[in-house]
Amino acid sequence: MIVTVSIGTDPSRVAAELTTRGLWTRRLQDGTRTLFVVEPHSREVDPEELRTIAGVESVALPPSPHPLLDAQPTLVDVSGVQIGAGAQPVLMAGPCSVESEEQIRQVAASVRRAGASFLRGGAYKPRTSPYAFTGHGERALRWLRDAADAHGLRVVTEAMSEADTPAVAEHSDLVQIGSRNMQNFALLRAAGRTGKPVLLKRGMSATVEEWLMAAEHCLVHGARAVIFCERGIRGFDTTTRNLLDLGAVALLSHVRGLPVIVDPSHATGRRDLVAPLSRAALAAGAAGLLIETHPSPAHALSDGPQALAPDELQHLSQSLGAFAAPHAA
Ligand code: PEP
Ligand code: MN
Repeated sequence: MIVTVSIGTDPSRVAAELTTRGLWTRRLQDGTRTLFVVEPHSREVDPEELRTIAGVESVALPPSPHPLLDAQPTLVDVSGVQIGAGAQPVLMAGPCSVESEEQIRQVAASVRRAGASFLRGGAYKPRTSPYAFTGHGERALRWLRDAADAHGLRVVTEAMSEADTPAVAEHSDLVQIGSRNMQNFALLRAAGRTGKPVLLKRGMSATVEEWLMAAEHCLVHGARAVIFCERGIRGFDTTTRNLLDLGAVALLSHVRGLPVIVDPSHATGRRDLVAPLSRAALAAGAAGLLIETHPSPAHALSDGPQALAPDELQHLSQSLGAFAAPHAA
């Protein structure tokens, strides 16, 4: 924001008024005019309030770098499930990877019992090692869709490349962009072109502003809406897999009115921390949780240490008592 002082007014009087409102300002001189630039880390303030200060001639707002995101409604409908401000939190749950038709059917039944509205599971897996399991691809998408439909669940699953995005969109309700791909702009364009809502995971080293800009890429190219997913960022300490940024969750949710889902599984990498961080996430304003679960975590082909067993998910969901009842498909 730029506050222009009227000619004839003592600028220090206006500066004092701005300071008492908790604003940090930088003073600029344009000939005889004095301007104050309000620094972005200042408290949020209504420009209308600044216009009422005696001696303020005008208050100008710079154009937003993400106008489509700013105009997105605070509540997003994904195939009949409401996500965001005013709606009950949603539970998205499932295995890290879709390992077999039988496995995903079993998981679909158990997450439905636990109150989930969405079934998750990777058909295309980004893996650190090229020798690790990388997913069953398109046939896993079909197993996932069928298992979800059999239990009245929606599907969220990751598109890892432009080439697999159309198939992911065809079999899912919500197209997931993984942390490693948050700034893969070709992939963001491809996800946008599907017209589907996108679940945009935060890049592990991305600032909040970069995350918001990535969402704008999806929207510019046609995504119906973007739902954010905070899954932890890289910290200096490896005690937990990542560092869950609950400040960003509160900011997106309470200040910007954006729907944000928290993934405590990838944030911590350990199942014993999933429950406390789930509680913290909902307290910070999360619109829902994305949790990994597996019928037999010790035998999972990926991310076993962070997966909850079916009874653990059930217990967590009951103890939170927060989720919207799953809707019929
Ligand atoms: C996932 O959700 O399976 C996943 C790979 O997560 P992330 O992109 O957050 O690492
Ligand atoms: Mn995983």
